[in-house]
Amino acid sequence: MLLDLSEKVRLSKLSSTVGIADQVTRLREASQQVVDFSAGRATEDTPSYIVEAAVEAMKSGDTHQTMAKGTTLFRSACANKLERDNKIIADPEREIIATMGVKQGLTIALLSLLNPGDEVIVENPCFVSYHQLIAYSGGISVPVPIRPENQFRWDKAELEASITSKTKAILFNSPHNPTGVVHSREDLQLIADVAIKYNLYVITDEVYERMIWDGNTHLNLASLPGMRERTITVMGLTKSFAMGGWRVGFIYASPTIISYMEKLQQHLITSCNAFVQAGAAVAFGEPPRAEVTSYWQEWQEKCRFATQTLNETPGLSTSMPQGAFYAWTDISALGIPSEVFCKRLLEEMGVAVIPGVSFGSIGEGHIRITCVKSWQEMEDGIFRIKTFVEKL
Ligand code: PMP
Repeated sequence: MLLDLSEKVRLSKLSSTVGIADQVTRLREASQQVVDFSAGRATEDTPSYIVEAAVEAMKSGDTHQTMAKGTTLFRSACANKLERDNKIIADPEREIIATMGVKQGLTIALLSLLNPGDEVIVENPCFVSYHQLIAYSGGISVPVPIRPENQFRWDKAELEASITSKTKAILFNSPHNPTGVVHSREDLQLIADVAIKYNLYVITDEVYERMIWDGNTHLNLASLPGMRERTITVMGLTKSFAMGGWRVGFIYASPTIISYMEKLQQHLITSCNAFVQAGAAVAFGEPPRAEVTSYWQEWQEKCRFATQTLNETPGLSTSMPQGAFYAWTDISALGIPSEVFCKRLLEEMGVAVIPGVSFGSIGEGHIRITCVKSWQEMEDGIFRIKTFVEKL
């Protein structure tokens, strides 16, 4: 008999978002009409000026490995972006590293920080991959509720009560997937106060930072006093520039942490794809062109359409997200577990959404609906959800 495979992988869960999206692909390949509101993938293609830059780079021979930390061009573009959008002055040589998307960035952030058994505090509910990435990195995730009655924010006493002698870091996400919360200065100050008091690192996942609606503002934790050295900021192009298939992002952190990550990138991936970095350098190096900002405008309108229309249905309650592009719909009045609701919705109405419980126990009683599909799909899919609920 062969020896057992990895315990860490065996014990980890499949990604419900990627899993449901794959199920939709299979159903469509079998010619079924499915509206896909599952994974957070926009319908739009990457803006053409970014594609052209990558194609040009590829044609001109930019097809070899780059420095492990990324090309000077890409890192400088990231520094420009940080200064322009986040008012952060970063040294592209020592404080920035290229990653193959935000998940890969989170992976090297965790691998750089954790020793076996170290604990990482995460939000409950949170992005589905956090628990697994922490486990693969040898750590233990400690979910701390962000409760609906506290507007999906941490309560300081509850956060502090979860800290032990093994706590190494806090990992959080704003704008938040799945709830749509954008952390205010007070929310960030709470996290900063706790991190400083207990000498913790903080990983901030800012993949949705340009998706901010209705006058909310995004603030970076590293810009708060005392936080620069202990914060690891993970950013990407997946969502904001509709570049999910490119697999590119970057990390801004202290030179020491970046030097750990550089070692990891050398061994894990050698480097990010050369021509991908060339395209991404254009995306980050200059202010976003109208092609991109028009996407953001559309996505905001789609979020508003979905939330308003869903609110017309008795039994469903949805707030307009402050940021990111999900409708986080409260279905608790219907008295059906979120997984059963989603399974039936897909089978009976051909609409794929994500059960709230897959983001954590506090997510039960909710479903997550991705609002960045074509207008036709948005209208058709939301109508089908209404019809389904009315028939229950
Ligand atoms: N973080 C969060 C909060 C996300 O929602 C996602 C994608 N759904 C990711 C990270 C993954 O980003 P990437 O595709 O750049 O790896």
